[in-house]
Amino acid sequence: MISSDHLLNFYINGEWVAPRHSNKTVDVINPATGTASGTIALGCAADIDAAVEAAHQAFPAYANWSQAQRNDLLGAICDVYAKRLDDFVWAITQEMGAPMQTLSRPVQAPVGLWHLQTALSIAQEFAFERQPGSTKVIREPVGVCALITPWNWPINQIVCKLAPALAVGCTIVLKPSQNAPYCAALLAEVLHEAGVPPGVFNLVQGEGAKLGEALASHPLVDMISLTGSNSAGASISKLAADTVKRVSLELGGKSANIILPDANLEKAVTHGVLSMMSNSGQTCAAPSRMLVPRSKLQEIEEIATRACAAVVVGDPLNATTTMGPIANERQFRKVLSLIETGIEEGAKLLVGGAEPLMEFGGGFYVQPTLFSEVNNGMTIAREEIFGPVLSIIPYDSVQEAVEIANDSPYGLSGYVYGGTLAHAESVARKLRTGMVHLNGASVDLAAPWGGYKQSGNGREWGMWGFEEFLETKAIMGAPES
Ligand code: NAD
Repeated sequence: MISSDHLLNFYINGEWVAPRHSNKTVDVINPATGTASGTIALGCAADIDAAVEAAHQAFPAYANWSQAQRNDLLGAICDVYAKRLDDFVWAITQEMGAPMQTLSRPVQAPVGLWHLQTALSIAQEFAFERQPGSTKVIREPVGVCALITPWNWPINQIVCKLAPALAVGCTIVLKPSQNAPYCAALLAEVLHEAGVPPGVFNLVQGEGAKLGEALASHPLVDMISLTGSNSAGASISKLAADTVKRVSLELGGKSANIILPDANLEKAVTHGVLSMMSNSGQTCAAPSRMLVPRSKLQEIEEIATRACAAVVVGDPLNATTTMGPIANERQFRKVLSLIETGIEEGAKLLVGGAEPLMEFGGGFYVQPTLFSEVNNGMTIAREEIFGPVLSIIPYDSVQEAVEIANDSPYGLSGYVYGGTLAHAESVARKLRTGMVHLNGASVDLAAPWGGYKQSGNGREWGMWGFEEFLETKAIMGAPES
């Protein structure tokens, strides 16, 4: 359990301190019930100043630590995180409604530990120095990093930034989503217990626009790494421009899932539907547009309808639930309104609809929804819905499928299911996306995560996550070491 004191304070310079000027608080709403599960303090620019100053003061000493020292610290963090794993499971289910037994426990909570372990093994091998010729090229930490994160995979998004940043010697100010503040506070407790030195990690909770502006325009912040909506990404990029900060963005997606004519339809369509409904559709890389051969549309609609019926919507505390509520009321209203738009624009509603599920009291439950005969110009094919809503879009040729897939302002992920991996890969190479999954392949923590086009400009995870937080220095004429 998290100390409730810690939710009303911020973690700055190795201590839990009271908010500077603001006495504003906000309730954290449990999306399964619509009622408050706790209260957090909301910070102001003065809290950000204190946190940034602490990170700035701590930077020179921490950047000078040996790699072996930093690796030992990462190892200690892994140990404490593993000990507190049940607390993360509880926190994530309370704050964003992930089903406890089928999502929080197997994936949402341990993924933070997996990123820490991956970072540790990369740190042990990473070439921080090279001498290709007469010049020595050394990699150094970028400095004070502001990490701004969303609510949908709350600990994943924090730790996939924090682990490489700590591994290479950066200091950190974290501003997590005000909708998912618990696991951030828990992480601060873990880092404290593991012995992270004062000022190396700092946490301020609060509203995005206000604190994001304070961070993005702060002269002592060297880098901003944001995962979130495109509007937040654009806003911080403009603010960060005045002080020429490095800005790394992981933004939205509208990923296409191309089912090729020679694919095993039962497997491909079932996998596509279940992937879409996982985490109540609130995954940036979710396969939200399923592109299918028009000649097989009827068979595909039948398979998709059957697959959708296997989704068990319900209380996240119930062991058999596979889909919980939408994580917050604002998102719940947005999803319902986009389902209505899909109906109004003439898409064929196969399953679900815009009526919320009322049998679970005041929780934010949406029906898993399938649309067919969607064309790529419809709002539901263009906008990121971020809910359990799949659009099936028919195509007449594979060439047309590729064109539809690429006809999106986003370019986060892609999915191709074919009769052979070689066929699927030949299509994957034509997609303008940062990632492509062939025949249901799952994510790989050691592979780069990030998007093309308006899905952002960053690459996280694995060694690419390290590159994000490093500067490059060339020392000309250096002696060989
Ligand atoms: P959001 O943009 O509302 O919030 C994300 C974070 O940014 C929060 O901490 C929020 O407080 C802060 N924020 C909001 N407005 C800001 C502003 N003007 N300046 C600075 N900070 C601001 O997004 P959300 O609703 O929390 O998350 C959902 C979005 O995140 C979706 O678009 C989803 O696709 C995206 N996302 C992307 C990835 C990825 O890896 N590409 C992963 C997860 C989520």
